[in-house]
Amino acid sequence: MSGKVKLLRYLANLGYGSRREVLGLLGEERVTDAAGELLYGDDVRPHEDIRIDGEALDPAPGLLLMLNKPAGVTCSTKDQGKLVYDLLPKRFRLRSPVVSPVGRLDRDTSGLLLFTDDGQLLHKIISPKSKLPKVYIAELANDLRGNEVATFASGTLMLESETTPLLPAELDVLGPRRARLTLHEGRYHQVRRMFAAVGNHVESLHRERVGGLTLGDLPEGEWRLLGDVDRVKLF
Ligand code: URA
Repeated sequence: MSGKVKLLRYLANLGYGSRREVLGLLGEERVTDAAGELLYGDDVRPHEDIRIDGEALDPAPGLLLMLNKPAGVTCSTKDQGKLVYDLLPKRFRLRSPVVSPVGRLDRDTSGLLLFTDDGQLLHKIISPKSKLPKVYIAELANDLRGNEVATFASGTLMLESETTPLLPAELDVLGPRRARLTLHEGRYHQVRRMFAAVGNHVESLHRERVGGLTLGDLPEGEWRLLGDVDRVKLF
């Protein structure tokens, strides 16, 4: 980010505290520029030139990151138990705009989950118009019957309590009880409900790709910021 920002509100919006708390940081002389000069609340500086306790700031607004979500972690903000936010720096949840998940993965689903604080980008990714491919590996309770590839590709499969058929989806059979499924939309519990609709049951589910982005060697439970190259891959 190259623009200059006015310090007090900017740091508060990045989650460094209420305005009063940020005033406290300034008063304690903990906020400086890159050369170590003290900064004041109405100083105007580029993001890259601001330090707190000598440390560079968190990423500037407009961030996009990927998390390798473990199973057993919830996407919501309020649920009991372990939350995806527990795997990110605490300040990301305190920012305004907040850093939020791009869509949802079920608690028992693992794999690639994006987060952003950019509302337009979020909309662009999850909008039904984007038809961004989302690729899942499903482990199943029962052997595949052989008709699932055609059923999922048909564009006529109706899920219970839905009023429009699913878009065609691609199923690659990887084993008797293992398959890769590529979706171009994101309905509630879609993968689990699709397999239920063909008489099967998903025992475990992992998302390996969104658009052209994969987890690469990112370990489970870890996150990384995405840069321009990743953004190009995404769309
Ligand atoms: N479909 C599901 O059923 N669950 C997910 O978490 C994602 C897609």
